[in-house]
Amino acid sequence: MREIKLFINGEFKTSNKTYMTLNPATGDDVAKVYLPSHADIDFAVDCAEKAFYSKDWREWDKNKRADLLEAIAEKLKERRNEIIELEIADSGSCVRKARADLHNASSYFKVLAGQLRKFEFEVKDESASRVGFSQNFKIYEPVGVCAQIIPWNFPLVMAAWKIGPVIASGSTSVLKTAQETPVTASLLAEILNSVGLPKGVVNIITGGAEEGEYLIRNPKIKKIAFTGSTAVGRKIMSESGKNLQNLSLELGGKSANIILKDADLSLAVDGALYAFLYHSGQACDSGTRLLVDESIYPQFKELLLEKIPQVKVGLPNDPKTGYGPVINQKQGESILSYIEKAKSEGGKIIYGGRRLTEGEFSKGYYIEPTLIEVKSENIIFNEEIFGPVLAMTTFKTEEEAIMLANQSIYGLAGAVWSRDSEKALKIAKQIEAGTIWINEYHLLNPGMPFGGYKQSGIGREMGEEGIKAYLEVKHLWISECNERSKKPWFDAIF
Ligand code: NAD
Repeated sequence: MREIKLFINGEFKTSNKTYMTLNPATGDDVAKVYLPSHADIDFAVDCAEKAFYSKDWREWDKNKRADLLEAIAEKLKERRNEIIELEIADSGSCVRKARADLHNASSYFKVLAGQLRKFEFEVKDESASRVGFSQNFKIYEPVGVCAQIIPWNFPLVMAAWKIGPVIASGSTSVLKTAQETPVTASLLAEILNSVGLPKGVVNIITGGAEEGEYLIRNPKIKKIAFTGSTAVGRKIMSESGKNLQNLSLELGGKSANIILKDADLSLAVDGALYAFLYHSGQACDSGTRLLVDESIYPQFKELLLEKIPQVKVGLPNDPKTGYGPVINQKQGESILSYIEKAKSEGGKIIYGGRRLTEGEFSKGYYIEPTLIEVKSENIIFNEEIFGPVLAMTTFKTEEEAIMLANQSIYGLAGAVWSRDSEKALKIAKQIEAGTIWINEYHLLNPGMPFGGYKQSGIGREMGEEGIKAYLEVKHLWISECNERSKKPWFDAIF
C-alpha cells in the first residue's frame, strides 16, 4: 500500500493521524495518507519562511530557477506511466484525461521557464524618469511565504499551477492538497527533491477544510492562493481580511456555450458534449449552460440525442472510456439532488438523469450524462452543479444570447460556435468571462492567463499575469537632482 507522507523541509514525515483515499471507480483503497497536526502545519510554515529568507534561495537568479522548472518538466515525463496510473486510481480520471493532465503539467513548467527567462525583474520606466531629476524603476520582488489550497478534480495540474509561480517568483509555499486526491502531488514532491529544489521552498501537506483554515490563519503567510468552490472562496477572502494577505482565488463557474444558427452543427454538437462531459462534468470551466438559436434548436437537439450515446461510459482505466465516475458519493448525491430540483421546477430531462449501478458501475458513483431543457430562471441554469448535467435553453437574438450568458454570478469561461468569425468575435467580446473560445472548448494555453470575472475569482494563473500574481512591485526612485535648491520639496518646509 502506497503511503502519502507530509513533505516538509524536503523530508517525508509521518504523523499520528491517517486516513485512506479511495478509488472513485472501484471503492478500493489507493493510499494511506498522513494528516498534519497543527504543529506540523506551523512547522511547515516556519520552514517555508526560513527558506524564503535563506541566502541560498535568495541567490538563485531567474535563469537558475528556470533551469529547475525545465528539469521538473522533464522528470514528469520520465515518470509519466507511474503518475498517470496513480492519477487514474486516486481521482477517477479516465486514461486519456490523466495523460492530458501529465502533458499539461509538464508543458506548463516548460512554458513557464521560457516566460521567466524573458521576464524583467527590474525595469527602468523611461516615461516616468526625467533626465537630471530622477530615474524611476519598477523592481519586482517575490511576495513571500504562500499558503496554497487546491481541489480534487485536476490534482496534478492544480499542484503544478501553484508550485510553478512560487519557484518562478522566488517565493516559498505550503501547499495543501485536497483530502480526496493527495497522491500525485506527493510524487511531484519527490521530483522537487530529485531536481535539487532547496529544502523548505515548497512544502506539501494533506488535509481538508480544518487543515486549510488553520494554515491560512498563520500570520507568517503573505499570500493565499486558493482554487475551489465559490462558497469556500468567500470564506477564505473574509479570513484573509484579518491579516490583509495578498489573495488569488480561482473559483467555480457556470459557463455559457452559445450555438449560433450559422454554426457548423456537427462540430458544435461534438463541442457541446465535450464542453460539459469532460471529466464527468467536474471541470471548473465546463460548458454547462447551452444556449441555442431557437431556429436551429430542433435540429441541434436531434443531433445531440444521436451523438450522446456514442460517448463511451466505462471504467477509467480502459483507454476507450471517455466518461467515468464522479469523485465520490457526496458529490454524486449532490448532482442527483440538482436533477431532482430541475424536475420540480418543470425542467424536462431529455436524456439520462439517473445513477448507473449495474455491473462494472456498481462499486463507483456513476451518473448518466444528462440533458435537461430548462428556463433561464431555473436553479439548474444558474448554480454550479459540478457534474455531467447540461442545462439547455434557446434564444431569439444575439442580444438575448449575450444577456443570458451574462446572467450569472460566475464568469469563468464560455464559447461561441459560428461560421461568421466577425459576428462570433463581437459576441465573445461582450461576454463577461476570463476565457472565451470561438469554435473551441476547454483548451488552455500555458502561456496565457486563466481565471475568472465576477464570483469566479480574483487574479489569474498562468501567463505573465500568473508570475506577477506572486510578485510585489517596488517603485525605486533614484534622484539625479542633488542640488538642494532644485529639490521640489525644498520650498515646502524650509
Ligand atoms: P472546495 O471549495 O470544497 O475545496 C477546495 C479546497 O479547499 C480543498 O482542498 C478543501 O480541503 C479546502 N477547503 C475547504 N474548506 C476550506 C476552508 N474553510 N478553509 C480552507 N480550505 C478549505 O472545492 P472542491 O469540491 O474540492 O472542488 C470543486 C470546486 O473547485 C468547484 O467549484 C470548481 O469549479 C472549483 N475549481 C475551480 C478551478 C479554477 O481554476 N477556477 C479549478 C478547479 C476547480
